[in-house]
Amino acid sequence: MNRVYNFSPGPSMLPDAVLEKARDSLLNWNNTGMSVMEISHRGKDFAAVAQSFEGRLRRLLAIPENYRVLYLSGGATGQFAAVALNLGRPGKHAEYLISGQWGKKAVAEAAQFTDVRTVADTFAQLRAPVAEDINLSGEASYVHYTHNETIIGVEYQTVPETGAVPLVGDFSSTLLSRPVPISRYGAIYACTQKNIGAAGTAVVIVREDLIKDKPKAVPSIFDWTVQDGQQSMYNTPATFNWYLSELVLEWIEDQGGLEVMAEHNQAKASALYDYIDDSQWYRNPIDKQSRSWMNVPFTLPDDSLDARFLGEAEQAGLANLKGHRSIGGMRASIYNSMPMAGVQALIDFMRDFAQRNG
Ligand SMILES: *Cc1c(COP(=O)(O)O)cnc(C)c1O
Repeated sequence: MNRVYNFSPGPSMLPDAVLEKARDSLLNWNNTGMSVMEISHRGKDFAAVAQSFEGRLRRLLAIPENYRVLYLSGGATGQFAAVALNLGRPGKHAEYLISGQWGKKAVAEAAQFTDVRTVADTFAQLRAPVAEDINLSGEASYVHYTHNETIIGVEYQTVPETGAVPLVGDFSSTLLSRPVPISRYGAIYACTQKNIGAAGTAVVIVREDLIKDKPKAVPSIFDWTVQDGQQSMYNTPATFNWYLSELVLEWIEDQGGLEVMAEHNQAKASALYDYIDDSQWYRNPIDKQSRSWMNVPFTLPDDSLDARFLGEAEQAGLANLKGHRSIGGMRASIYNSMPMAGVQALIDFMRDFAQRNG
């Protein structure tokens, strides 16, 4: 059976090289006579995986010495709570910027654990907030925003300015797509099923001074201080996910690192947006300054054509283009693993479909 171009927003496409390597290691990994799934997370073989993952992540993102790296279970949704539990402070409120559905979910979850204020909301305008939209008090425990809103395809092109207040970024659908100035952040987190591996886990990068004074009760598996002290192994970690993520980072390094990924990703996104804009048939409604490199939603002139579009795309080996139920239309998620050839195949299909149905 042939592989397809998988445009799913997540869990999403993984590089063939990563899947083949994982497959070849299933019965006998590293000459252990066992799978990674069958070995102890405390043994030296797995310790090497965990160390290599951290080393590669630090090299790729140029993570400064004073930041800690965690690999935790519970995905980004787990971190919605963990951020509030670890960085919220009694008597202080947290401030949230909203530019889409995930930011709203982050607010709803955090509000269970700390006092939350929304200080910008540009969701309805289909763009990321700029400085004039944001009303920071300067007294918050932290400021949270969503760097790339996966569902509508709204991505910040700059880092929000928060002065001395720690900035926390949900980078779930954009981490590793291009370089990030880590030192501008208090913490960054991302679920792994978009650009970093399989679903169910999350990567956290946090400045060490923020986790020195452990706040009140935090469930141990979400406690950044506890997990940092235990190398993310307070509980038995998701070892196979971690191993897959290590292979993904190896693949990114083999491609040439994040500058090269950024060039590829920008070229892919530009090709698709340019085609959509020039077509005068398909439409992307997002403000041009906020268009995502990773998730490209688009509509057809008449939604009665949607089902036919999706059916024929599937036949052409272009899978999972259906947009999120909340906004309809189509969405092409073009993460690191999507080659330019996949984007070109999509554009060719879209052109042909428009000619036949326009
Ligand atoms: C996918 C995603 C999430 C949720 O990730 P889970 O692993 O399902 O918890 C959160 N935020 C953003 C921006 C996402 O893209």
